[in-house]
Amino acid sequence: MVGMLAAMPPAPSNRPDRDEPPLTSVRDRGDACPGALRLHTADDGALARVRVPAGVLSAAQAYALADAAEQLGDGALDITSRGNLQLRGLEAGCGGELAQLLDAAGLLPAPRHERVRNVVASPLSGLDGRGYADVQPLVRELDALLCASERAPELSGRFLFALDDGRGDMAELAADVMLLAEPGGGSVRVTVGDAAVRVKAEDGPRAMMLAAEAFLDASATRAWRVRELPAAHAVSAADLAARAAAAGLDAVAAVPPSCPDRAAGGEGPPVPGAGDGAAYVVAPLGRVTASAWRLIAGVAERYGPGELRVTPWRGVVVVGAGEEQLGVLAGAGLVTDPASPWLGVGACTGRPGCAKSLADVRADATALLPAGAGGLPVHWSGCERRCGHPRGAWVDVVATADGHYEVSAPGGPPRTVPLTELAGALAAARTITTPTK
Ligand code: SF4
Repeated sequence: MVGMLAAMPPAPSNRPDRDEPPLTSVRDRGDACPGALRLHTADDGALARVRVPAGVLSAAQAYALADAAEQLGDGALDITSRGNLQLRGLEAGCGGELAQLLDAAGLLPAPRHERVRNVVASPLSGLDGRGYADVQPLVRELDALLCASERAPELSGRFLFALDDGRGDMAELAADVMLLAEPGGGSVRVTVGDAAVRVKAEDGPRAMMLAAEAFLDASATRAWRVRELPAAHAVSAADLAARAAAAGLDAVAAVPPSCPDRAAGGEGPPVPGAGDGAAYVVAPLGRVTASAWRLIAGVAERYGPGELRVTPWRGVVVVGAGEEQLGVLAGAGLVTDPASPWLGVGACTGRPGCAKSLADVRADATALLPAGAGGLPVHWSGCERRCGHPRGAWVDVVATADGHYEVSAPGGPPRTVPLTELAGALAAARTITTPTK
């Protein structure tokens, strides 16, 4: 059922924040994150990343993206680990046409800000009766503030905002600025690094923007993420509270929620299925064909208000869809079964799309798909960058130059394994249990 707790318990990560250690000197370049207007050149053509705050798309926007994928790209869309959408295999010189198409669909409301609209939110908020508040209206307000902000374009394309309705599902995404609804729904805590303030729920989006500005002012080293701030430059709760007070908000310094038990229960991702006025489906390895997008959009239009919510777990909430629609969604290649082995498997782009890759990791992950669900998630990477890897505890599988894979489970040493022995090594690694804090 949608909204049930996921099978994976929260546990310490085996790769703690390796992406963004504190900066020890001033960075001399901006981030290279692709956007809808700044395309990245990959081995399979150009790549565009379309930011979709909280993953919320109308059916019309989903149709437009399907058209773009088919007319300009390779005919599919990838869901990223932040619930954004990527088009790949774009023809050279199609940037103007793509921008026009996205703009006409309302997916480019502020071109200067398009790369910084990185906003995730509890995807079932307001639908299943869980959580302390519906954060969707707060998402819309935050996005409007972001798009109107003079300073927001100074943020990197990696900076992440998260709004958690109190169920704790956003904790694992390690956002830079986080809003967490509190019991009763009248107040929220807004956190940046180790600093937090409590404000009225309706002031949450403004407090989030103030937190982002405090980060920019503290970022003398040109950090892209809050975790990169050296300790001496960290934003303090007193600074955050003072900024909020100066902006006329009723704010008090608060204790930041602690990970992994940040909120009530620390709920995981939705489970595929239907219930509570929505269906939830997952895309194997995050890839959805244009025809499947059209089918999802059609279901959303026919059985609900025409709203989709793309999730950071490579799934889509189809608002209004029910049990009866699961068959047609499954027929389009989407995972609707909570016991599907695809639920625990992720992979980067790999060969042939990425020049850095040492293997076709998607083909290998597909060939070695386990028989059933369960155990720790596995993420396959074509090189040590580990693009799109999950947070928390997971099994790390990285291609090596000699055609093997290096496998590491939480708390264990890496092991180099030939492809022929990989299935057994993965099965063993996924069963390793990690101590909870
Ligand atoms: S992890 Fe390496 S191989 Fe995979 S997409 Fe990232 S850079 Fe490419």
